[in-house]
Amino acid sequence: MNECDTCGSTVDTTDNFCAACGEPQNKKAKQRIKQLHDKLFNASSTGTHNNVTLKLPNQIKEYEQLVIRISYAIGALSILSGVSLAPSIASIFLILGGILFLPPTRLLLGQVIGRSPKFTVTIGFSTFVILLGIIVTVLF
Ligand SMILES: [Zn+2]
Repeated sequence: MNECDTCGSTVDTTDNFCAACGEPQNKKAKQRIKQLHDKLFNASSTGTHNNVTLKLPNQIKEYEQLVIRISYAIGALSILSGVSLAPSIASIFLILGGILFLPPTRLLLGQVIGRSPKFTVTIGFSTFVILLGIIVTVLF
């Protein structure tokens, strides 16, 4: 039995890591940690993005949830406007744009064509279609 240098817990002589705090207990374990760290660091600093600031998982989640909620709201609003304007040319644009704006459409498109189209591309295109619908409504 050994004692962990970091937290003082008893560690078995065969243990590579401390069960209480996770500190590596021998040279081999320390090397492995360093290897993993380097691998992770190099993976995040490839290309031109050398100063990568990693976002915390909950920050990403909050941002994505907000984007998803807004997408649903805009999509639903556009579909509703389209339905209320039917039958007109504008309603086709508004309904189509609204459906494209809904987050599940992106996933379904991804299943059909192999990979999900980029978020900005989908949003850009559906915004364009919705704007067309609005222009048609105003003009005719
Ligand atoms: Zn420890």
